Amino acid sequence: MNIPDTIKVGSITYKVIFTDSQESEDNGECNQGNCTIKINKDAPRAMQEKVFWHELAHAWNITWEEETVESIAQMITTITNDNHLYKEVSDE
Ligand SMILES: [Zn+2]
Repeated sequence: MNIPDTIKVGSITYKVIFTDSQESEDNGECNQGNCTIKINKDAPRAMQEKVFWHELAHAWNITWEEETVESIAQMITTITNDNHLYKEVSDE
């Protein structure tokens, strides 16, 4: 899967930044204020992809609880990986 530098979520374009792990206790962060999604650059790739979807779920609906957001992230990463939906991209 390709994690892009920017991603549009509704009307907002978020900048995706890979950060040092010591910047945050979590592996990721979604900041609606400055339109950034941060992902721990030291996390394993599979974790980064799940964090990416997790933070996008936060961006999609800021009222969703952590449990909902994490469930959505798990669903997308599991189904896309199990069905090789990103095969062509990751084979590049
Ligand atoms: Zn979260």
